[in-house]
Amino acid sequence: MAGLEGKTAIVTGASSGIGAAIVGALRREGALVAGGARRAERIEADHALELDVTDLESCERFVSEAVERLGGLDVLVNAAGLALGRDPFWESTEDDERAVLETNVNGLIRITRLCLAHLRDGGHIVNIGSVAGRQAYEKGSLYVTSKFAVRGFTYALREDLLGRPIRLTTVDPGLVETDFSRVRFRGDEDQARTVYAGVEAMTPDDIADCVLFALTRPPHVNVDELVVKALAQSSGGRILRST
Ligand code: NAP
Repeated sequence: MAGLEGKTAIVTGASSGIGAAIVGALRREGALVAGGARRAERIEADHALELDVTDLESCERFVSEAVERLGGLDVLVNAAGLALGRDPFWESTEDDERAVLETNVNGLIRITRLCLAHLRDGGHIVNIGSVAGRQAYEKGSLYVTSKFAVRGFTYALREDLLGRPIRLTTVDPGLVETDFSRVRFRGDEDQARTVYAGVEAMTPDDIADCVLFALTRPPHVNVDELVVKALAQSSGGRILRST
């Protein structure tokens, strides 16, 4: 197993949930980590930096500062993302569509492009996709669209990287209990709670474990994709609840 001692990593979406857990896991394995998010004050990394993935200047500033502070780059984890609303598509708005696609798709692509210029040989990119990027569910059209795009981008980039010593993985989780639903329902705690009611969801640490697994395979092994769901779910839309 290849360890992470002495490796350097950038993690986006580091202020909460899955990204925050990944920062913790990487640091416990000996990596030096720069985390980025808009709420930088919440980030517990070696370097906590402000980042808005929807803003090109913010991304450029973040990547150059992170790489300078880390002294190079071995690992990029793209975890920043969000959904807005759980409504039929005809209730969708221009603003929500822009926010979801700019964050989940353009933001991830932008950060990847900027980081690739610095990624050392033996480097690794991990995208946090979703089961929503593999199978559609009702009333989630923009989020589903964005995560299908992430999967498309991951596989297109895999083609372009072929022949270069850089590995690429998509980790596609199902139900994970984080602030994701609080954001999706715009702060409505009751609605957010119903998402996790009567089912044992996965934890952010469960997903961080998957990321660590992919990162610590021998250098000649590329884990292309890891799909993980709560035991009581078979898709983003089908969840067995005890209540
Ligand atoms: P979360 O707790 O709400 O965390 C989302 C993270 O994304 C936060 O750190 C947030 O930071 C960051 N973020 C959002 N917009 C950003 C922007 N414009 N610029 C920079 N950072 C931004 O939700 P989570 O569940 O951990 O989500 C992390 C990833 O996992 C997302 O890509 C999500 O789609 C994916 N995912 C989640 C689940 C689930 O069930 N929870 C399942 C499958 C996939 P700031 O708000 O501080 O900027």
